[in-house]
Amino acid sequence: MKERILTGDRITGKLNFGHYVGSLKNRVELQTQYETYLLLADVQALTTHFEQPDLIQENLRQVALDYLSAGIDPDQATIFIQSLIPEIAELTIYFSMFVTVNSLRHNPTIKAEATERGYQEMYYGFLGYPVSQAADITFCKATLVPVGEDQVPHIEQTRKIVRRFNQLYKPVLVEPKPLVGDVPRLVGLDGNHKMSKSLGNAIYLDSTPEEVREKIKKATTDPARIHKTDIGHPEICPVYAYHQVFRKEGSDEIYESCKKGQIGCVECKRSISQSINDLLEPMRERRSLYKNDPKKVDEMLMSGTAKARQVAKETMQEIREAMSMNYF
Ligand code: ATP
Ligand code: MG
Repeated sequence: MKERILTGDRITGKLNFGHYVGSLKNRVELQTQYETYLLLADVQALTTHFEQPDLIQENLRQVALDYLSAGIDPDQATIFIQSLIPEIAELTIYFSMFVTVNSLRHNPTIKAEATERGYQEMYYGFLGYPVSQAADITFCKATLVPVGEDQVPHIEQTRKIVRRFNQLYKPVLVEPKPLVGDVPRLVGLDGNHKMSKSLGNAIYLDSTPEEVREKIKKATTDPARIHKTDIGHPEICPVYAYHQVFRKEGSDEIYESCKKGQIGCVECKRSISQSINDLLEPMRERRSLYKNDPKKVDEMLMSGTAKARQVAKETMQEIREAMSMNYF
């Protein structure tokens, strides 16, 4: 039997290149090797967006299209909707009995995200989302979780939950490992934060060639460089970071000529826009195929969700039995 992958995305907006290099690329590469489950995390999106359920409705199919256009094959991978698997919510409750509030408060990603969002006080659901994520991963007994760097503390928390559960009750669950992509944290166009759906600093996977060029044109560069001949500091420039990530070759030359003040930002931006557009071209083709067939996408979501639900029911039976909660 193949080992399983479980990973997913919060449905807070369409996907960008941070998601692609952090996780999605690995999912595409591994989908034939692992039985792959991809979760459209609508419930987890609510932890920060409970006032905007419409946003989730709007983006659900968009994220599914992002997966398909990036090369996820619906005959290989199972794409499903989190809120339609009530067993995940049930498992979250059971786990929450033995996870301490302190361990969540000290989770570095929770801390960083709470600060970023200006939370003085934390909502119960937000503080507890790593517990819900542990339920996402364990309901299908996934062993591998392709994620960006910010998610590593959550996988560690999942591993602890699994060990505790197995020790308290019966060894039903398996410990997963994170798989961080080639680029653990892609910087956003602002040059400051990670490229993120919520921060408005992203290049989206559904961009037109013109949108890519416009976004790159406006990207922050080395502020000390005013004239082309000024000496550059590529190490702090997001555009150089993109050269490293998206060019097949030649980023060392870009580094050297920026350092020596031989290449200007305009030229540097033009060439990276081209590389990004080359990468997007096959994605655009796949996207238009699926976009023209919305019924097929809906059928895929329904059958993926039904398959995941079946797995969840089987695991939940084992869980209830392990916890002596199989009454009849
Ligand atoms: P939000 O701001 O709403 O939380 P997000 O952009 O952080 O959105 P998530 O849905 O939380 O996206 O993350 C989905 C996956 O993509 C996670 O595995 C995360 O680590 C990864 N990821 C997100 N942004 C980046 C990035 N800039 N670089 C690398 N990986 C990333
Ligand atoms: Mg996030």
